[in-house]
Amino acid sequence: MRKTRVRFAPSPTGPLHMGGVRTALYNYLYAKQNGGDFIIRIEDTDSHRFVPGAEQYIIEALRWCGIIPDEGVDDEGRVVETPSERHPHAPYRQSQRRGIYRKYAEQLVEAGYAYYAFDSAEELAAERAKAEAAGQTFIYNHENRMHLRNSLTLSAAETEKLLAETTDWTVRFKMPEDEIVEMDDLIRGHIEVNTRTLDDKVLWKRADELPTYHLANIVDDHLMEITEVIRGEEWLPSLPLHYLLYRAFGWTDSQPRFAHLSLLLKPVGNGKLSKRDGDKLGFPVFPLRWVNEAGEVTRGYREDGYFPEAFVNMLALLGWNPGTEQEIFSMDELVKAFSMDKVQKAGAKFNPDKAKWFNKEYLRMKSDEELAKLFVPVLAEHGVEDDFGHLVKVVHLIKERATFVADFWDIAWYLFKAPETYAEKDTAKFWKPENVEPALKVADFIAAYEGEWNKDSLEAALEDFIRANEWPMGKVMNCIRLALTGSGSGLGIADIVILIGKKEFSSRIEKAFANSASISL
Ligand code: GLU
Repeated sequence: MRKTRVRFAPSPTGPLHMGGVRTALYNYLYAKQNGGDFIIRIEDTDSHRFVPGAEQYIIEALRWCGIIPDEGVDDEGRVVETPSERHPHAPYRQSQRRGIYRKYAEQLVEAGYAYYAFDSAEELAAERAKAEAAGQTFIYNHENRMHLRNSLTLSAAETEKLLAETTDWTVRFKMPEDEIVEMDDLIRGHIEVNTRTLDDKVLWKRADELPTYHLANIVDDHLMEITEVIRGEEWLPSLPLHYLLYRAFGWTDSQPRFAHLSLLLKPVGNGKLSKRDGDKLGFPVFPLRWVNEAGEVTRGYREDGYFPEAFVNMLALLGWNPGTEQEIFSMDELVKAFSMDKVQKAGAKFNPDKAKWFNKEYLRMKSDEELAKLFVPVLAEHGVEDDFGHLVKVVHLIKERATFVADFWDIAWYLFKAPETYAEKDTAKFWKPENVEPALKVADFIAAYEGEWNKDSLEAALEDFIRANEWPMGKVMNCIRLALTGSGSGLGIADIVILIGKKEFSSRIEKAFANSASISL
């Protein structure tokens, strides 16, 4: 039995979409479940699509999620460039491995599985235009290759000369003309594809001395002893070529098994979940905030206040089901429960409300102290500094109502500062003389209250007092709450009084009803 080794192989072409995070997560869970290694490899051989900062973004996003690689990235989050015991296959950036691939491309040419192609970009463009004019699509394959400029049609001497004297040639795979490729996918089962419609993909380019994705991917998966390739379904059309490459190299015995994950779908309608859906419906589709070169900001789950555990839990269940009713899974529980045979073939519809639900659940599971710590910077943004013990009590009281830590402020800001205005709609309703008068009496009662200083005792005493005077309980309470919070809604009076203290309570009552004469007008 070979040790399980899987890899996440992103191309640094921009921020990592949440679908990409899910691919990394499933790789990670699979590796850990099997006691294996999770490797990161950066596939950056397409220099035209390289985006500065994307590599760091990807690594940081995975670290935020707790998806920590065993190999390829060091503990500081840097892609490893020099081999060591822990990272024997360094460098892990394909652009830095460029010296490796040429001999593999040449090996295929020598064995007759590939050939040199000398067609210039202009010649190929002309072929495309010609085919288009005839209502067809040009494909570089068995139908056309014998009319084009390559080592299959030119003499050996001419080929040698062009190889030596020109620099814009490529190595192309010689796709079999009519063969059924039989493949197996861990999620999709057995697949058969006829090679008739497939093209002679470029494997290596002399111009930049770089391999294309296909060659680099196969060679590196082989050298890095990858046992399973778990990736997005957009790579399924490349699978026949990859199978044929393994065969051509004579590596079928150690060929990895493949699993192609379905897409994440839009919350409404059909199609792939895109950044535009997020912008339109107001939810993030990227793990972290991303600022592009033009300074445009794309929101991220982290900055929107999601807990990484909630994000990971939600992602894990987008396309995999545990086969039970359980929804809340820690990373360790996911590692134990995950199984490839319960990964669904169909696309998974993303539901932003469910993402919020997960966050709410994780918020409730956190201790009051932990949440209070997270609340400190939110308070600071509002210019409030508070005693930590007091903060813990506040958090304890309001955490059930919040989805995000930032909600604490919206729910309970009035526990930290007095209201400056009073909602008109509510004042019209509650600040009537018949309510204000008893409210002032209740205020005196509280100021003089000497019973136990906790919510239950104070609440009981208040209710007894109001009932004994036969005042309308709800109206009087709302009248007071309005004075304390600026609106008719909020926490219970006793809770507020306990948390802001008698002195602050009296001052707010005084301020609100200083003009009680005007109220009676
Ligand atoms: N570089 C490819 C990507 O960014 C990797 C595909 C694969 O995992 O084979 O999706």
